[in-house]
Amino acid sequence: MDYAALYRRSVDDRDAFWREQAARIDWHTPFDLVCDTANPPFAQWFVGGETNLCHNAVDRHAATQPDQPALIHVSTETGREETLTFGQLHTEVQRMAAVLQGLGVTKGDRVLLYMPMIPEAVIAMLATVRLGAIHSVVFGGFASHALASRIDDARPTVVVTADAGSRGGKVIPYKPLLDEALAQCSHSVPHVLLINRGLAEASMTAPRDVDFAQAREAVLDAQVPCTWVPSEHPSYTLYTSGTTGKPKGVQRDTGGYTVALATSMAQIYCGKPGEVFFCTSDIGWVVGHSYIVYGPLIAGMATIVYEGLPIRPDAAIWWSLVEKYKVSVMFSAPTAVRVLKKQDPECLRRHDLSSLRHLFLAGEPLDEPTAAWIGEAIGKPIVDNYWQTETGWPILSLARGIDPDAKTRLGSPGIPMPGYDVKLLDDQTGAELTEPNRKGVLTIGYPLPPGCLQTVWGDDDRYVKTYWSTFPHKPVYNTFDWGLRDADGYYFILGRTDDVINVAGHRLGTREIEEAVSSHAGVAEVAVVGVADQLKGQVARAFVVARDPSRTASPALRQALEAEIMQTVDRQLGAVARPARVDFVNVLPKTRSGKLLRRAIQAVCEGRATGDLTTIEDPTALQQLQDAVSEVRG
Ligand code: AMP
Repeated sequence: MDYAALYRRSVDDRDAFWREQAARIDWHTPFDLVCDTANPPFAQWFVGGETNLCHNAVDRHAATQPDQPALIHVSTETGREETLTFGQLHTEVQRMAAVLQGLGVTKGDRVLLYMPMIPEAVIAMLATVRLGAIHSVVFGGFASHALASRIDDARPTVVVTADAGSRGGKVIPYKPLLDEALAQCSHSVPHVLLINRGLAEASMTAPRDVDFAQAREAVLDAQVPCTWVPSEHPSYTLYTSGTTGKPKGVQRDTGGYTVALATSMAQIYCGKPGEVFFCTSDIGWVVGHSYIVYGPLIAGMATIVYEGLPIRPDAAIWWSLVEKYKVSVMFSAPTAVRVLKKQDPECLRRHDLSSLRHLFLAGEPLDEPTAAWIGEAIGKPIVDNYWQTETGWPILSLARGIDPDAKTRLGSPGIPMPGYDVKLLDDQTGAELTEPNRKGVLTIGYPLPPGCLQTVWGDDDRYVKTYWSTFPHKPVYNTFDWGLRDADGYYFILGRTDDVINVAGHRLGTREIEEAVSSHAGVAEVAVVGVADQLKGQVARAFVVARDPSRTASPALRQALEAEIMQTVDRQLGAVARPARVDFVNVLPKTRSGKLLRRAIQAVCEGRATGDLTTIEDPTALQQLQDAVSEVRG
């Protein structure tokens, strides 16, 4: 089939295209309207239809292929390795649903998960949507303050957690961090459900805290039918960083998301029922939601849920799993590949990768040398794909399922995927840039295709103001990425237009990190910027004006204060957000109106020209910054 024609139809004959795609999933009640566009920029998909995400991911396959593998768990941290068939997954999800129900969870309630990569995490997500409740997974790398703000926003009925996670053999306690968060937040959480892995001490507060193993024993025969929900009923919220310090709860629907994932599995990832999909992300991120949990299961595939590092016990571990479980589609991030690149390439060649068709990479820019290296090392096509937490599935990629021979272009994540009316706009005038090779803001025309965010949880106004109001009188969604399209229609992503940074594929807001740094009593002012890094794509660097100059009077004192600031960030947000380096200056470069000159700070850090700085308030600020940056550290 001609992909160009299919794509045009998805935009020009939208309703007919998506009506066909909707047949990929089961509907309890058929929909009567494909897309309700009566209230732009909001859009509701498959209106009048009723379905259930868990039914489409689990029940329908349990009915037809009960003995086929569904969830393969491998932990190189604890040695646990097990496979659940669709039939077994169906049983376990119902047990979990019965436990959640017993704790008072009903349709529309929120269930917040703070979990390591264990099967119970996936089972809890599926059980939540089975009940028509709404899950909100918080990445396990976030610490108590970040967790507390998300709990306060989601106001969950139950928080599901574990005693601990493990990383590189080091036990990372979860329950104490949750207890700290619960003490900080204003919402009173009625119940905590604890999965005790026996890794760390977990203090239990009765009657709030409930042990899952015990509760499960009481519901072994539970039969909990799916709660049918309207297509537009929220399935989950997922918090993501923006330009303010307050993370946004990206809210996803049920019917549109299920259809979009089913479509992407067929048209982009080429996943077939009975095969195995291996996505190395974490359930705390959108890639984990869409392509560890829901996408593969909706497609009737088994999904590998991996806990561990890519290089432990050695760099062959992932590839040994590809061989052992005959993985046909793999999905990872450029950072992980850059980590592997530092290892012996023989590790990758040791295993039979004949089952593997493609390796998809996403989450951050894929640089050409990394793409070329991994393509050569594994001898498989590498497919870059570009999307965001907000969209839930790829905006740009190659539709390998439609056009298997689609040419990759190193450095480009490809072309628009079905339903995405991608437009590049001039950042000043908002005019559409139709000629090739012009840099513009990457936007998407109204309506967003199914599966994308419906709104910001509890804040429709923020949704409209943040995403749809950049270009007055132009109904476009702003991705906040710079883009460029070449003469053949391939897009290139040229970085964010806002203050969001991307560290090892993890999206972080510099404002959030600045708030955490500022909470240290010794900090008067701070600027955090993202700086290019060979391994992680970007790292955060902080420039601090200390309250008391005597605390930065010598290298040893500066080092001590830097360590304290880093610990503060670890405690508040988690090590994932810790700046790679903290430098001290007497004044930060600002405009006369007091705006931080972030781009100039970033340029100095990256050794680039700062551009026109006529608006700078104190020109000595830049020299100070330069001196701090060039200070050689022992
Ligand atoms: P997140 O919402 O955490 O998935 O982060 C989304 C952001 O990561 C995007 O807005 C881009 O800035 C960046 N990103 C994701 N995938 C790619 C890609 N394939 N190429 C370039 N940038 C990407």
